[in-house]
Amino acid sequence: MAAGTLGNMKVVAYVALGSNLGDSQSIVLAAIKELSEKPGLRLLAQSGLFSSKPHEASGADYVNAVIALECSLNALELLQVTQDMELGYGRVRSFVNAPRTLDLDLIFYGSAKIQSPWLVVPHPRWAERAFVLKPLHCIAPHLVTHEMLEKVSAQVIERI
Ligand code: ADP
Ligand code: MG
Repeated sequence: MAAGTLGNMKVVAYVALGSNLGDSQSIVLAAIKELSEKPGLRLLAQSGLFSSKPHEASGADYVNAVIALECSLNALELLQVTQDMELGYGRVRSFVNAPRTLDLDLIFYGSAKIQSPWLVVPHPRWAERAFVLKPLHCIAPHLVTHEMLEKVSAQVIERI
């Protein structure tokens, strides 16, 4: 590979967005816009918005979406960008699964398998969560089987 090529590699990354504090619809839409305008990121696809009951958590219903990004950042750089944004939206990690103004989870980073203390990709619980599977199925049907959707069919989620 020619020198410098690696630095220009582009990967398709999938990010799941969730919010259940504040004006969640506006927050999720604003976060999608903000992410797509970051250097090194380009929006390829965006699911519709979904509303879901908190899963293994308390609080108001969530607004969820999943997006596909063309990404020239490495996975940890992308994580950094998403975590900075979470803080920017006022997220406080008060307790596990606490209500949050903005949660950004990195679901896939190309076909990479990553196991670091800060980042596990594919996201370890992506296939257990209707709020990831349903929106993901809208933009990447090849990644979500009917069997997967069947397994989460008890979780309450609907298109907004
Ligand atoms: P959750 O989204 O599971 O409710 P948090 O958003 O509070 O939990 O994330 C907790 C930690 O998970 C983050 O500090 C981050 O370093 C780590 N993490 C590991 N893998 C991922 C991933 N694929 N996407 C986002 N965060 C991840
Ligand atoms: Mg998270």
